[in-house]
Amino acid sequence: MLDKVLIANRGEIALRILRACKELGIKTVAVHSTADKNLKHVLLADESICIGKASATESYLNIPRIIAAAEVTNSIAIHPGYGFLAENADFAEAVEKSGFIFVGPTADTISLMGDKVSAINSMKKAGVPCVPGSDGPLNDDAERNKGIAKRIGYPIIVKAAGGGGGRGMRVVRKEEELIKAIETTQAEAGAAFGNATVYMEKFLENPRHVEIQVLADGQGNAIHLGERDCSMQRRHQKVVEEAPAPGISEQMRSKIGDRCRRACIEIGYRGAGTFEFLYENGEFYFIEMNTRIQVEHPVSEMITGVDLIKEQLRIAAGQPLSIDQSQIQIRGHAIECRINAEDPETFVPSPGHIDMFHSPGGLGVRWDSHIYAGYAVPPFYDSMIGKLITYGESRDEAIARMRHALDELVIDGIKTNIPLQRKIMSDENFFAGGTNIHYLEKKLGIS
Ligand code: ADP
Repeated sequence: MLDKVLIANRGEIALRILRACKELGIKTVAVHSTADKNLKHVLLADESICIGKASATESYLNIPRIIAAAEVTNSIAIHPGYGFLAENADFAEAVEKSGFIFVGPTADTISLMGDKVSAINSMKKAGVPCVPGSDGPLNDDAERNKGIAKRIGYPIIVKAAGGGGGRGMRVVRKEEELIKAIETTQAEAGAAFGNATVYMEKFLENPRHVEIQVLADGQGNAIHLGERDCSMQRRHQKVVEEAPAPGISEQMRSKIGDRCRRACIEIGYRGAGTFEFLYENGEFYFIEMNTRIQVEHPVSEMITGVDLIKEQLRIAAGQPLSIDQSQIQIRGHAIECRINAEDPETFVPSPGHIDMFHSPGGLGVRWDSHIYAGYAVPPFYDSMIGKLITYGESRDEAIARMRHALDELVIDGIKTNIPLQRKIMSDENFFAGGTNIHYLEKKLGIS
């Protein structure tokens, strides 16, 4: 096993990684900014190092400082978590070139999947179903682009090849709007992602977001751990996730899961990953692959009993997968509510001091969070402060537990989205299952 792991992240995921390391007997190094010296995992780690100022560019995004911290602490491996540098191929390369193990795929795989055009092309080759589209980047030939859009059929969506975080895309419903939309998206993509390449896809009107979790060891073995439904979104950001996805049969799961598993073997994938699909009228359409652990990984852990972070660490240590597909049994249902420090009506972030805190508990309740009474949520980072996960033998039981757990959860001193999550958990359409990606915004009256 790895002797010592540096955790290149903060907040709940840093704590989650620390817990997995402790269970495996791995020593931990926490790196943190000046704003984060009181983070829970920093206080619990074997060693901690301040790597810079509060601004992420001076700390969690600063590659030389993270590498230097690994050097001075004699770390063996670096776990990037999610966000920050987790899908940065230059970082993965710098980590490996400096003699450390990157807990994740190779830099080449990250580059391949980080560019959505090359990702789609390699997935098509591997037999994964994709959204009908331009089959490559758009150029400046207006007539060619109009022809592509006509072939696909309006509405279409123009997307940045290097896009992420739900940014860099534009829906086009009429030919008159196409050329301007392409130019604007190109300009925005160039400024935001340093890559002006855009491509085109059929815009699916009412899809659900369904994704497949995979694990691969880079030694020819790969498994899938079923799907998650993450359709409850606001501004392309997930708010609630669940596993399994309502209405997906065992047969559909194994068909799409097997395609993803085989694609992993084909591209030599190593580590945990997620194939994201839009799901409409019984069909899956690949949109992108995330080459890292995801925020919503706990719901898959709850229904399979597999600890995904421990598996990531074992794979990074060079061990072959310890489980094969036949050992993956989906049992029960899990739901995750993201808890954010924000106004539940306006969504304006609400950092500050937490005066009082009560954690929910009981059978089937999991609370993944770094917060505690007296902790001050800094204003510099993402507003997510915790994830409340419930498990039940049935979906109804998981929802009933979530309602109760949300009532038990008390976070005073800052505003949180707990009231919004309560609303969702008592929504009759959510209760019925299978709402699409526009449902939440419609319910909130913002679309
Ligand atoms: P990002 O990397 O920014 O998350 P994605 O390609 O995963 O970008 O798309 C994010 C979200 O945008 C999807 O979950 C979906 O809500 C919407 N979206 C993307 N492509 C399409 C499409 N072809 N049709 C309809 N909605 C789409």
